[in-house]
Amino acid sequence: MALSSLYQSPPVDDSKQPDYINAVCQVNTHLTALELLHVCQAIEKKQHRVREKKWGARTIDLDIILYGVQVVASKQLIIPHPEMMNRAFVLVPLAELEDDLKVPVLGPIQELITKLGEFELLKL
Ligand code: AMP
Repeated sequence: MALSSLYQSPPVDDSKQPDYINAVCQVNTHLTALELLHVCQAIEKKQHRVREKKWGARTIDLDIILYGVQVVASKQLIIPHPEMMNRAFVLVPLAELEDDLKVPVLGPIQELITKLGEFELLKL
């Protein structure tokens, strides 16, 4: 339904890695959240994602940030994504798609961005 701009950002904790390119897209789907996660994982696999270490460099990483207003807390899936409020590279592109979004549990997206303080993010 919608795709944000691409954003370049430095790796969270390993400066020896190259920068990441991030974006947020909005989709309409009949899949449940868990089914959607499985589709994302199948795409990651197809793109030959190599996971050498947690947080390490990877070819692709697809996360579910939100699923409408639904809140999910299961072993496999947590929605809203548990790290979204700490990541400018998620919040800023998400706000590009919907600048007055109220994030379930967490609150208005603009307030979440303000709470981040300073961040390094290059809009491409
Ligand atoms: P990663 O691909 O390294 O971001 O982590 C993927 C793991 O996080 C998978 O095992 C998922 O089951 C789990 N996970 C929990 N919540 C989410 C979410 N909202 N989106 C994607 N993966 C999630």
